[in-house]
Amino acid sequence: MNGGADFDVVIIGGGPGGYAAALYGASAGLSIAIVENDTVGGTCLNRGCIPAKALLQTAEVYRTTNHASDFGIVADGTGTFTADWAKVANRTTGIINQLVGGLSGLIKRRKVELVKGHGRLTATGAVSVDGRELRGRAVIIASGSVPRSIPGFDIDGTRIVSSDHSTRSDALPERVAVIGGGVIGCEFASVYTDVGVDTTLLEALPGGVLPIGPDPELAGILKRALTTRGTKIHAGAKVSPPGKSNGGLILGFETKEGSEKIEVDQVLVAIGRRPVSEDMGLAEAGVRISAKGFVEVDTTTMATAKSGVYAIGDVVETPGLAHVAYAEAIVAIKAILGENPIPVDYARVPWVVYTHPEVAWAGYTEAEAKAAGYDVVVHKHKFAGNGRAMIIGDTDGLVKVVAEKDGPLLGAHIVGPWASELISESYLAVNWQALPEEVGAFIHAHPSLSEAVGETMLAMTGRSLHG
Ligand code: FAD
Ligand code: AMP
Repeated sequence: MNGGADFDVVIIGGGPGGYAAALYGASAGLSIAIVENDTVGGTCLNRGCIPAKALLQTAEVYRTTNHASDFGIVADGTGTFTADWAKVANRTTGIINQLVGGLSGLIKRRKVELVKGHGRLTATGAVSVDGRELRGRAVIIASGSVPRSIPGFDIDGTRIVSSDHSTRSDALPERVAVIGGGVIGCEFASVYTDVGVDTTLLEALPGGVLPIGPDPELAGILKRALTTRGTKIHAGAKVSPPGKSNGGLILGFETKEGSEKIEVDQVLVAIGRRPVSEDMGLAEAGVRISAKGFVEVDTTTMATAKSGVYAIGDVVETPGLAHVAYAEAIVAIKAILGENPIPVDYARVPWVVYTHPEVAWAGYTEAEAKAAGYDVVVHKHKFAGNGRAMIIGDTDGLVKVVAEKDGPLLGAHIVGPWASELISESYLAVNWQALPEEVGAFIHAHPSLSEAVGETMLAMTGRSLHG
């Protein structure tokens, strides 16, 4: 179908957006090239989702082993367990290598051509890579994002670092300041706190933990849990560039309580990410870029202002999540195929923060539902009474469900054990716009954590079992 072009689709970027577009498009019979200047898998596999979750799993094992006696396991030695971060890093690299290897195999088997190098869009809509010109019937920009920094915080990779470094480091700082209490900052604060690092979390907005996104009640439960384990959290903090001290760095910040200075060994800047849209000839070729650097698209097709050019993933101003990039890849490929894509419903995508406890949600929070004009009904069920939660020794948290009065479910919010997995059922129900009585009839295996979801849905019908 490429009618004279080299490929049906040329994709710039081989992260979750780019590789998903390539694999999905190839499975639909399209001929595809991916241009990637680093490693396939992008941020997600190499310095994002996968290594961050591997480190969180290390933290989980650390917590469990050091609380083994709570489960009746008695060690014959006397010492506590400590983390050997070089071994932890080795394990993380092993997982990444296995996934990157698997992905490279899939790309090869689907006969997608992987072109190494920096891709640029030419005025004629081709993609040039190191002097070679790849012409596609369509082009997809999937160049992703990189960490942002704060003026005066020069990221050097050792003292002042970003998640690019912290996901792959083979040494732990003794004292760390994490700047930014968003998803990435909270995940690292959770890891570091659990493995015994003296951790301070500084967030500019009130609340201090996940100030944007989840229901504030869930964020509050995470904040309390982190504080209880030892994270020092400062909300409304205005940080100043750090100075050197004998042993490390002196970091000053101001909050409502006054100004403070702390000494740390490392500062992790986790204040968000910025899209990679520069140095690719995009604007010159007619692709519209927003003031914040995002590629502007029509989200019903992911088409940009330039005919035949699409954009997906973190380079677009939609939730910066790997699974959103996958979904947008499918929308773009379907649009290129001339099929009728189902656009992503951005208000209902699943969000997961893999801290301890985990936080996950899909759909409207109570406040968002009210602001949207709904007459809402809210029900909650705590994990404290759930048998499986007691068995695994992890009872902190709750399920909170929001529905329209006498209408469908609007949102589901979970903080607690395996919220990351439990959210799938609620995501489905919320996106199906199911009625509480429909979902309330679902059976959940006993004993399981999912019973907490079932109990909340049942409570929505006005009756309950254990609620
Ligand atoms: P990227 O993954 O950034 O990939 C873009 C690729 O394009 C890169 O490989 C880059 O080298 C390449 N590229 C850029 N410009 C060019 C060019 N001109 N020529 C050639 N190649 C180019 N999301 C989740 O859903 N779940 C999580 O648990 C999660 N955890 C995260 C943890 C951390 C620490 C971080 C940093 C991110 C996390 N994310 C998570 C976000 C997720 O990683 C991103 O949403 C996802 O990687 C976006 O995919 P992408 O394909 O748009 O971009
Ligand atoms: P995320 O985009 O989820 O990674 O979140 C980034 C977080 O960093 C948000 O909660 C922001 O409010 C926060 N943030 C942004 N700039 C600063 C800053 N200069 N100091 C502290 N926190 C910041």
